[in-house]
Amino acid sequence: MSINKNFPTNTANSNFALSTASAVLALALTGTMTVQAQETAVEPLTAAKAPADLILKNGQVKTPAGWSQAIAIKNGVILKVGTTEELKPYQGSKTRVIDLHGETVLPGFFDSHVHPLYGGLVQKQCRVAQGLNLDQALEKIRQCTDAVKSGEWVIGGQWDASALGTVPNRTILDKVSGNHPVLLDDTSGHSSWANSKALELAGITNATPNPTGGIIERDAAGVATGVLREAAIEVVRSHVPAPSQNDVKAALTWSLNTMLSYGITSFTEAAVGFPAGPDLELNMYDQLADAGVLKQRVRLCMTWDQNSELSNKVIAARNLYARNLVAPDCVKIFLDGVPTDGHTAAMLHPYETAMEGRDDDASRLGMLMVKQDVLSAAVTKFDAMGLAVKFHSAGDAAVRAGLNAIEAARKANGYSGKLHDIGHSTLVDKEDLDRARLIGATFEVSPYLWSPSPINNDITHAVGNDRADRAWPIKEMLDAHALVVAGSDWAVIPSVNPWIGVESLVTREEPGGSANSFGKKEAISLEEAIELFTANSARDRGMGNVVGRIEVGMLADLIVLNQNPFQVPVNQIHNTLVNLTLIDGKVAFDRNEKVKNTKPVSIRNRF
Ligand SMILES: [Zn+2]
Repeated sequence: MSINKNFPTNTANSNFALSTASAVLALALTGTMTVQAQETAVEPLTAAKAPADLILKNGQVKTPAGWSQAIAIKNGVILKVGTTEELKPYQGSKTRVIDLHGETVLPGFFDSHVHPLYGGLVQKQCRVAQGLNLDQALEKIRQCTDAVKSGEWVIGGQWDASALGTVPNRTILDKVSGNHPVLLDDTSGHSSWANSKALELAGITNATPNPTGGIIERDAAGVATGVLREAAIEVVRSHVPAPSQNDVKAALTWSLNTMLSYGITSFTEAAVGFPAGPDLELNMYDQLADAGVLKQRVRLCMTWDQNSELSNKVIAARNLYARNLVAPDCVKIFLDGVPTDGHTAAMLHPYETAMEGRDDDASRLGMLMVKQDVLSAAVTKFDAMGLAVKFHSAGDAAVRAGLNAIEAARKANGYSGKLHDIGHSTLVDKEDLDRARLIGATFEVSPYLWSPSPINNDITHAVGNDRADRAWPIKEMLDAHALVVAGSDWAVIPSVNPWIGVESLVTREEPGGSANSFGKKEAISLEEAIELFTANSARDRGMGNVVGRIEVGMLADLIVLNQNPFQVPVNQIHNTLVNLTLIDGKVAFDRNEKVKNTKPVSIRNRF
């Protein structure tokens, strides 16, 4: 049936709004129409009478109600989902029709934790690939130092201690780095390796005290080794020349395009201010949004640091940077580090192994960077301001501290309308699983890190097999009815491709399959994995009514895939390619045409 026939076609008609409202009310009161009303819900609108702007036909369209074939889109809104035949009435002379030839359509993906600017900048830095042994790493670093002018900084990453096969020390780097200061991040980004020149430029001597929230590693004789943990990294990094405006623009543009090519239509920038400073970064997001280069729906999480007045100023100024697609409505708070050899994640129970030369509380239990009372007060304040809070919480003590703070905020403020994210959620105590649902907290997990990898070997070594078996306990989270979303944490991991994460969620093995697995009993179904990236993420962002599902009335943020992930062997999911990315019904990426961002879109060879 069509219920739009009784409505005036002229939207200027003053009765229109009233009539529409009456019809909606009438529908609501007619209980028997519920199912059909959902199917035809937008038909009363006059816009629906005009032809669709775009029709995708002959595809495999995944909807919450099952598989369908075709989608009609008008003004960025999904008018109708059905068979190709059913959508014919929506085709007018100006309607673009894309024949999908059986390709698969899913909702656009969210990346709920990503560092796009960092991801772009590291492409031009010294890439010490994960898994290199010491000789290979040193050869690479030698090449990097040879490639820059005398005395220039060499920065990059991402070494991992277990692959190096030795405890990093500045003297090792000194042998290959000449007069260049060198600072190299590890795979986690929470430890760095500096040479003597870098320590010297940063003014770090053996007598320098550890900064708040950081550790300058020292050997048994008290000599700084060049290994820096957490806030201590900043002491050195602050001496590295900041990237130029042009560098930042090029890097962010590249990352935005790269993410579109992987089907990421919405993302959360997880730490504004890193690595180029908040002013330059916020301005660049705006510049690219104003120029139409930025096409995704973006949440910006501004890093709050209890010791930084600047971070409070940035948060206060947030709405100066707001744009249609750019929401600076989130605060990031780092609560700990990572549960690897550096023991920087805050744990409820001691690490399995002792740290060489260390016998202090921080080496046994890690570090909580913000005291609970300070944290709860801060989260209560941000929550009252209507902001979302995203924590970096890897250890189970940091997860608990974040949950405690959210609970304090809810007690003080009631429900603010914003969900808060426990970011990473690497280790979660069983007793905390139920709390998330009850207090409006979301578990944000990092599936790209889940397969067997050097960092996960480090985690297993540091926390022992029992806790490692429950790392990222997503099955338990879903069983507890918690809201769970996925974030890449790129460029902490090498690729922002979400299909690697999707496969890892299902297999907990290396992409392509492997004899080893990591946290196998926490594996979830493909259906659930895709929900993490779509509907769940939309709900977490407060956008569950507009994106994340392919339904009538939703905005057309869609991706077209070269293969149906539900129809290929599970260890092939990581090979899924995105052929077309639509945002608001407009083509933002087309693999066939290699569409560049700002050019007018042509999709003629798909007609
Ligand atoms: Zn991160």
